[in-house]
Amino acid sequence: MMFEKLKEYGTEEIHFCNDEETGLNAIVAIHSTVLGPTVGGTRFFPYESEEKALFDVLRLSRGMTYKNAVSGLKYGGAKGVIIGDPAKLKTEKLLLAYGRFVDHLGGIFTTGEDINISVADVEIMSRVTKHMAGIGGTGRGGDPSPYTARGVFRGMQAGAREKFGSDSFKGKTVAVQGLGKVGYDVCKWLHEDGANLIVSDINKANAERAKTELGATVVEPSEILFAECDVFSPNAMGAVLKADDIPKLKCSLVAGGANNVLVDGTAGEALDKAGILYIPDYVINAGGVISICLEIERVHDENICNQKMDGIYDNVKNLLDFAKKENLPAYLAADRFAQKIVDDARSSR
Ligand code: NAD
Repeated sequence: MMFEKLKEYGTEEIHFCNDEETGLNAIVAIHSTVLGPTVGGTRFFPYESEEKALFDVLRLSRGMTYKNAVSGLKYGGAKGVIIGDPAKLKTEKLLLAYGRFVDHLGGIFTTGEDINISVADVEIMSRVTKHMAGIGGTGRGGDPSPYTARGVFRGMQAGAREKFGSDSFKGKTVAVQGLGKVGYDVCKWLHEDGANLIVSDINKANAERAKTELGATVVEPSEILFAECDVFSPNAMGAVLKADDIPKLKCSLVAGGANNVLVDGTAGEALDKAGILYIPDYVINAGGVISICLEIERVHDENICNQKMDGIYDNVKNLLDFAKKENLPAYLAADRFAQKIVDDARSSR
């Protein structure tokens, strides 16, 4: 049963951790080491069941392999999940236990922040292992979110060039869902470039800030998906686009920082059928992991990192060219593009 799951996702290894003292139950999936030692965040989530946690870590770790491959990184993909309610379970002791678990993996997996794991949490874990990234210090990059946002904006420009014939967002209306660490900075880039912003966040203070500082129009969270706009930019949680909703979208481009935007492949098909260009999440939101990889090598430098973020424009452009050549929608082309990079690396080992 377990090996069936590994085969289904092409996953190399799964590691489980049970720490009686702190209640830590965690899973690390090492999806692929073909391109190098692996990197991927760790999330803390109250999964309904162990099966759901396993499904999430398998899916997300494969996504990391693809993300690292299309970004030209010499790192494989992995992911960690900690099962449970962070509000009840997250203690310094538990974070240290997770740090020791990662340390036992001996450097094949470097991890950092993700949902419900903050930079401060990662700093605690880093007391017991050197295989943590996304923290401050010499040669380190700190919070990767501003880099992610810059890369998302550059990828959106490449999408705009393809769809509207120009990199510029001047006069374009962009609907932004989620104004957290990534979404708010994406809005700042868009505002500077002359876009009209429609925004939404379940945290009303974030939306009000965008209204005051960036002149954004605020709508309810239930309205943002169907707002009248040129571009829809998802920057909140995943699984926001399902096939049934696609005919109601008013945009012609979907591009944002959120992971796993499509509920499943049928949403990708529906977008393609509706003539809406979707820039695959892991191609456009790779800025964070690029920053993390520079940090792992202790060569993080703001200028170099920003140059790499700007390179996401070309990564998106190359993918769109490949998609056209293969006559595939971008969401399918991305997986094929990434898998080919991994397969080529495997056969040249
Ligand atoms: P964040 O928690 O700082 O921000 C998310 C924001 O979305 C919050 O302000 C939250 O209130 C809002 N939100 C949640 N549900 C919403 C809804 N239904 N409607 C509107 N707003 C909603 O997270 P972040 O770091 O900005 O990450 C945003 C997305 O980007 C996530 O999907 C994350 O996985 C992805 N991502 C982030 C990074 C990074 O470097 N931070 C890197 C790659 C991908």
